[in-house]
Amino acid sequence: MSSPALRAPSARSGFDALSVYDDAAQRCAIDLSDNTNLWGMPPSALRALHDFKYDKVTRYPSAYTSELKESLARYTGAEPSMIVTGCGSDDVLDSAIRAFGNPGGALACCDPTFSMIPVLARLNGLTVTLSSFSPDGGLPVESLLASNAEIIYICSPNNPTGRSASREEIETIARSFDGLVIVDHAYAEYAEDSLMYLTGTFRNVLVTRTFSKAFGMAGLRVGYAVGNTSLIAEVEKSRGPYKVGALGSVAAIAALENDTSWIRDVVSETIVNRNKLIRRLESFGYSPLPSDANFVLVPVTDSASIVTRAASDNVGIRGFRNLSGIGDAVRITVGPWSMMEQILEIMGQK
Ligand code: PMP
Repeated sequence: MSSPALRAPSARSGFDALSVYDDAAQRCAIDLSDNTNLWGMPPSALRALHDFKYDKVTRYPSAYTSELKESLARYTGAEPSMIVTGCGSDDVLDSAIRAFGNPGGALACCDPTFSMIPVLARLNGLTVTLSSFSPDGGLPVESLLASNAEIIYICSPNNPTGRSASREEIETIARSFDGLVIVDHAYAEYAEDSLMYLTGTFRNVLVTRTFSKAFGMAGLRVGYAVGNTSLIAEVEKSRGPYKVGALGSVAAIAALENDTSWIRDVVSETIVNRNKLIRRLESFGYSPLPSDANFVLVPVTDSASIVTRAASDNVGIRGFRNLSGIGDAVRITVGPWSMMEQILEIMGQK
């Protein structure tokens, strides 16, 4: 018998069914796998990083990012007390689920949706209830409401399908539900509707956003959420202090204060390229889904073989096996047209 000191302790129940995130596609020279901004980061944010006084890092950053919240308040039109930041929006989502979901309770979401959500729910001791989208792609409002969950998660535009939920669908859920409604707006800058009005209208809606996508700073790990002050106070407790590093904060503030027009220009070019990419894929016989974000989901017969073929050309795309209602599919991040030509060449070799 091994001595007690050598025996590995068991992790929390349920952890054995979870695995770590696979970032294989990031090792490709052209990475179209994770919906980041392939034009780079806002110039003012890059300057802020260059000018950063590195001897400052001996000190802790602001515990709850008070200065960043001031800039975010100007950007979103919300009060600073309605904003919580975090180490990417993953961290904000995790904190919100922990704050409002009791272990043993359930989180309801659509299938397919952002793959980290079931993981974050289970890590926090919640079960997950999945509802398929309606045949026309709409939110399964009735089924989400009937799920008896404590938290309903809506991703709009939805990752990986790309479609936005309508105001009416979100409002019906928010009005009819007592628990927390999380609206994940990671792709807000690409969508037509800012959805910020929801946070002033409904006391149970938390809108989460990120600097990882249109803001081009995935490596700095900065995300945030906007909601009613009382919601935010609970999420902030759950999140804990010092989650955003000093570099992430200065870069995010610089971008918000100086470069929102740079971001708007990049978003416009993304949308032009996205629509052109969709048309070109259609001309090859594919049926890509309409998208309100900076990525396109393309149903295919065998996703693994396309992902492997792309990787052998040093292009990373995200493959999905047997998505609910769709089957196999690949998701392509929209970037500068030279990159789109490379993936089109690969997709064209059927
Ligand atoms: N929500 C959605 C819908 C996403 O697609 C992602 C990243 N892929 C995130 C949240 C998390 O992003 P981050 O933690 O970088 O803010």
